[in-house]
Parts: sequence; structure tokens; C-alpha cells
Amino acid sequence: LKNGDIAMYQAKLDGKHGYRFYSLAMDQAVERRMHLEHELRGAWARGELDLVYQPVFRMEDNRLTGVEALLRWQHPVLGAVAPSVFIDVAEQSGLIDTIGPLVLEAACRQARAWQQALPAAAGLFVSVNVSPRQLRSAGFADEVRRALAATGLDARQLHIELTETAVIGDELRVGELLGGLRALGVKIWLDDFGTGFSGLSHLRRVPVDGVKIDRSFIADMLRDPDDLALTSAIISMGHSIGITVVAEGVETEGQFDILRERGCDLGQGYWLGHPLAPRAFEDLLR
Ligand code: C2E
Ligand code: CA
Ligand code: CA
Ligand code: CA
Repeated sequence: LKNGDIAMYQAKLDGKHGYRFYSLAMDQAVERRMHLEHELRGAWARGELDLVYQPVFRMEDNRLTGVEALLRWQHPVLGAVAPSVFIDVAEQSGLIDTIGPLVLEAACRQARAWQQALPAAAGLFVSVNVSPRQLRSAGFADEVRRALAATGLDARQLHIELTETAVIGDELRVGELLGGLRALGVKIWLDDFGTGFSGLSHLRRVPVDGVKIDRSFIADMLRDPDDLALTSAIISMGHSIGITVVAEGVETEGQFDILRERGCDLGQGYWLGHPLAPRAFEDLLR
């Protein structure tokens, strides 16, 4: 991080607020963010960013049906940076515009390679997280088409995971965009479902193929009757409108059993399988 960068940032703050404020904690947070942004810029090219894959199972018969691609950043000095931190930096700085398409294509390529090489992976889907800014970028639909064409993955085996915040506000445009992707066969899942305020009403306007129940509900389900009631309600609501319901963060057999009993379609979580590097995942498939 160059001193000039900080000076420029301070000058911007001065201009905006008309005064210069000194808060050590704030300076440090800003500085850390700028440092991360700077380091993240060349991280993909330096091979510091990698995808790991977490298995997704059909609950009815415990069959592996797909994987969720999750991005990891191993920095040579900082070590492993939490995805919640660096994804946010990428989103705020615009770096997601370059990282997003690379992730999408890499995940499609990996899924296709597994389908071709391993009998247990025939028909395996890959689920890719897409952030709000990425979804709203003008070329997103083309980005998806390009990744499919470049890798030969069947569109039906690509799932896009969006959070509610990504679809809020611009429902008409987002609805149109998602409609176009669904016409190709790509499936759309709403991630962290249940944490937003108006989950149900969005489902009327934004076409989705499935919802992923947020793991906070799954975590408290066996202790908190409200969370169990909500989880059950999401499952039956989902089924009544014909969409797939996925539970994430399944950490115990007790949670798995009750979800299966309530008819939840798919499950994902440490009890079923941790996110794995490709090599380790291949061993599992064999
Ligand atoms: P997410 O999409 O909700 O991903 C699931 C997170 O839960 C992952 O954290 C996963 O490792 C973790 N997890 C899985 N099973 C369990 C479990 O049984 N218990 C608990 N406590 N956690 C479990 P991770 O990998 O740290 O990712 C955090 C978030 O970062 C993701 O949340 C997603 O929003 C974002 N993210 C990760 N990779 C990407 C990416 O390639 N693009 C974008 N836009 N966002 C990503
Ligand atoms: Ca996700
Ligand atoms: Ca989630
Ligand atoms: Ca609770």
C-alpha cells in the first residue's frame, strides 16, 4: 500500500465532509481494506484463489447430486482470508467484475471434467454464487452463455445462487434477466433464504427454481420451536409452488433426520460433507 493512496483517500474524505476526522480504528479499517483490495487485484493471476467444492445430497436416498463452488484465498503473508471479507472487498471495489467470470468458467469446467471422467459424477450439477453487482452488470447473461459454451457444460447442470439482496429493488429487470437464463436451462436458487424481510413476496415476482434455507434456522431448529416451524413452513411453501428446497449447514444427524422427515429435497453441511479441494473430492467420488 502506497502512502499516496492513503493521502488520496483522505483528500476524498476531506472533500466530501469538509473536515478531516481522525479515528484510529477507522483509519486502520480503511487501511486494511485498501491493502486487501490491492493484494486481491493480482491474486487470481498469482494462483492464490482456488475453488473448493461442497457436496450436495438428495435427502430421500442420500445420493450425491451436485456441488457448490466456494472461493478460497490463500495469501502468502496474510494466510487464509475469510470469503465473507474478501468477497465484500471484491464487490465494493469492482474487482468482482473480473473475478466473477473467472469463477463461473472455472466451476463449469471442473463440473464438466468430473462428469466426463467419473461415473459417479454423471449428471452432477455445480452451483455458483453470484453477487449483486455481478448479477446487475450489463453482460451477465453473456458471461453465463460464454462459460457454458467454453466448457461444454449442459446449462441444466449449472445453478446460480443469489441472495435476496441481489434481487431486491430491481425486480422487473432482474426477473427478465433470470427468465432469460432459465430459458437456457440454468437453474436459479435463492441463497440464505428466510433472512430477508419479504422472501415470500419476492418469489411471486422473481422466477426461481429453488431456495436454500439459511443455516441459522437449521442450527437452531432442534432447540428453538420457532426455527423448526419456519423451516417446515419454507419446505411446504416451496413444494406448494413447485420449487426445490435445500437445507444448508446440516451439522448433525438429528438435523438431517428431521429435515428428511419434513420432506426437504436437498441437504448440504459439515455432517454430510465439508468443502473439498478438487483432488480430495475426486477421491470421495471414487
Ligand atoms: P454461502 O453461499 O452461504 O456458502 C455457504 C457457507 O457455509 C460456506 O462458507 C461454507 O463453507 C459454509 N458451510 C457449509 N456447511 C456448513 C456447516 O455445516 N456449518 C457451518 N457453520 N458452515 C457451513 P464460506 O466458504 O466461508 O463462504 C462464505 C460466503 O462467501 C458464502 O456463503 C458466499 O456468500 C460467499 N462466497 C463464497 N464463494 C463465493 C464466490 O465464488 N462468489 C461469490 N459471489 N460469493 C462467494
Ligand atoms: Ca451459496
Ligand atoms: Ca447460504
Ligand atoms: Ca432462533
